[in-house]
Amino acid sequence: MDPHAIAAVIRSHGGIVRGRQLLSYGATRSLLARAVDRGVIARVRSGVFATTEAEPLVLAAAAHGGELCCASALRHLGVWVLDDRARLHVWLGSGGRRHPHPECRCIDHRDAGGSAFGVVSLVQALVQVARCLGGEAFFCALESALRQGLLTRADRAEVRARVSARFRWLVDLARADADSGLESLVRLRLHRLGITVRSQVFISAVGVVDFLIGDRLILEIDGRQNHEGPSLRHKDLVRDAEAAALGYETLRFDYALVIHNWPRVERAILARLARGVRTVA
Ligand SMILES: [Zn+2]
Ligand SMILES: [Zn+2]
Repeated sequence: MDPHAIAAVIRSHGGIVRGRQLLSYGATRSLLARAVDRGVIARVRSGVFATTEAEPLVLAAAAHGGELCCASALRHLGVWVLDDRARLHVWLGSGGRRHPHPECRCIDHRDAGGSAFGVVSLVQALVQVARCLGGEAFFCALESALRQGLLTRADRAEVRARVSARFRWLVDLARADADSGLESLVRLRLHRLGITVRSQVFISAVGVVDFLIGDRLILEIDGRQNHEGPSLRHKDLVRDAEAAALGYETLRFDYALVIHNWPRVERAILARLARGVRTVA
């Protein structure tokens, strides 16, 4: 069995396999060692081998002992996650064990089942995120997945059935039209304050605004994390001017305010509402 044949077997098994499985295809320990030496396959840890094109984070999870899961799996699948700690979440299964590796800061997940290597399903990752990072992160990720059309109706029902009862109302509240994770977060937090908003509202001469509270108060959430160029800033100002001419008032918040200084955002909105805005459209 030459090194490329070994790589083909690993590839056909999803890119990462245990050495003992390769032995059953006719590989030997010395053939595996030679394939590693030649750089045709990679050794993830003792007894586990991968193709050279396997995803680095999936490899890191395998080195730790399981599958990429929870927030890490969601990011891998293109879902927005409210979590800037950037630690690796690994599903070890109920009986798996973690393997020591350099600079390990992984977060273990041990929900039921037997993990292998790779990435958990989107449904499982969402259920894990609820328990691991809490309701807000779960809600934002769920809306992000819905927006991208990644969940079927059955998937959504399965998520609802599998999360703890205290998160089920969040599944019912979730919609598919949030424009960004930040918007999901703001809508949820305002909902908790008893403030109902309409999202992605089209206003003639202004365009689509992120939120409208009542008839006249616009909330814009700037999700751009790197500071935008002067032309976009100018566009925003033009929109605000058009809105003001039509009798609207605009409150504008950015990523840093929403994520790191929510009380300030909340005070601003509540003070504006206290001065009187029609909150029932
Ligand atoms: Zn987690
Ligand atoms: Zn680790």
